[in-house]
Amino acid sequence: MSRKNAFPEAEWNLQNSYAGLPGIFYSRLKPDPVSGPSLLFLNNSLAEFLGLSVQGLSSKEELAVLSGNRIPGGACPLAQAYAGHQFGQFTMLGDGRAHLLGEQITSRGERFDIQLKGSGKTPYSRQGDGRAPLGPVLREYIISEAMHALGIPTTRSLAVVKTGEKVIREKVHSGAILTRVAASHLRVGTFEYAARWASTEDLQALADYSLQRHFPDYSAADNRYLFLLKEVIKRQAALIARWQLVGFIHGVMNTDNMTISGETIDYGPCAFMDAYDPATVFSSIDRNGRYAYGNQPPVGAWNLARFAEALLPLLHNNPEQGVQLARDAIAGFSDWFNYYWVSGMRAKLGIFNEEENDEKLFKDLLQLMENFCADYTNTFRTLMYAGGEKEELFHSQEFSKWQELWQARLDRQDASQTSSQELMKRSNPAVIPRNHRVEDALSSAVNNEDYTEMTGLLEVLKSPYNHSNPLQDYYTQPSAAKTPYRTFCGT
Ligand code: AMP
Ligand code: MG
Repeated sequence: MSRKNAFPEAEWNLQNSYAGLPGIFYSRLKPDPVSGPSLLFLNNSLAEFLGLSVQGLSSKEELAVLSGNRIPGGACPLAQAYAGHQFGQFTMLGDGRAHLLGEQITSRGERFDIQLKGSGKTPYSRQGDGRAPLGPVLREYIISEAMHALGIPTTRSLAVVKTGEKVIREKVHSGAILTRVAASHLRVGTFEYAARWASTEDLQALADYSLQRHFPDYSAADNRYLFLLKEVIKRQAALIARWQLVGFIHGVMNTDNMTISGETIDYGPCAFMDAYDPATVFSSIDRNGRYAYGNQPPVGAWNLARFAEALLPLLHNNPEQGVQLARDAIAGFSDWFNYYWVSGMRAKLGIFNEEENDEKLFKDLLQLMENFCADYTNTFRTLMYAGGEKEELFHSQEFSKWQELWQARLDRQDASQTSSQELMKRSNPAVIPRNHRVEDALSSAVNNEDYTEMTGLLEVLKSPYNHSNPLQDYYTQPSAAKTPYRTFCGT
């Protein structure tokens, strides 16, 4: 019998175009095999979206692929080289515990990276063991899928495999491998690596590859590398605005964790804010609040300035003019950010048209939330429905004054009250992955091998804008005992 008929196949349709880049950008090597793999989670809808067979992926033979024990046809496993600024310090990094198998080409002709994370050591592992503990892998699965359902560009999670091996950190953990799906894994840090260690020709090859992969309409641009810079700035401004609008805090916005595609990547100590406070930091490693909620937009601009620096040799033959082009492009970030943020806030407050003073109206509301320690997500939920206002904010005189201004603003637009409310429902999530719910789900999974809570949470997070479900449990803020909440990288 031919191998093709021996078991239900996953229908991989893999290429590896990244392997066509100059060799300095990667190391070809296979994942390290694991001894006792078992499939914990498979994302059926993502599998179908990618043109993969759910039945095939659930088979023993495909488990070997998802655990790094077998290389599927068409794959060309490699670890990517990159550098990055970590908390402001430049350093060499690279995939220290991940292998890019290749790119799955869908029947629609789209191309998605398929990467195993936690799949063993590589030349970039430094002191690391190349492995990932189960808890952080499940966390990335939950949050990345929640972000996707919220409509925010993100890498996604196809599967979680338990390796059957132990991973030693401050404690002993079960090891796991995440199959991560991404528009690509090109990072600002990939360009920093090229600028520091590769030739200008290699840097150019990387830039051309990025253009082809993510900005295919570049040919109309006079200066394609300036076009690349400006497009990445625009996508990142849009992305970070989306984070701010839902109260998401990435936690480790190092330049190696910032994509060229504009997707959110590398869910480490990330979390969603409960009470509104721009100084909110969850990550235990972010001691100075560099990556606090309110700092995310300026940090985004800082990271993009590192991207612009890396592109300098390509921007102009005359270095001074190159610097000027880069400066002007970076200066555009805050305008783009503001544009996306103000547009998003209008939608959150049911406003269709534009008025000059809108930004002030929005910032006044945020200031009130901050003064009254009001829950960010629930404040917008409450604004949608009359009655049931429990929080102190809603009983204050300051809020009444603000509400009058908001009502007058709504009255000045043509839209009906119903369409305004519909817009708000589409723009304000009913549920977000609240930290205490995520932690409860993870602790049952990791400590008791009980995945019911995690499965329930994943189900609810699939429809964050469904306001008809009575999901009281998922709205509740954490108890005082669970704040201030700290997330640990635990990598
Ligand atoms: P991250 O915090 O996931 O953005 O990772 C930062 C860098 O550390 C990347 O180069 C990772 O590949 C590397 N790294 C993180 N954990 C490990 C590990 N257990 N073994 C080897 N490299 C690791
Ligand atoms: Mg990273």
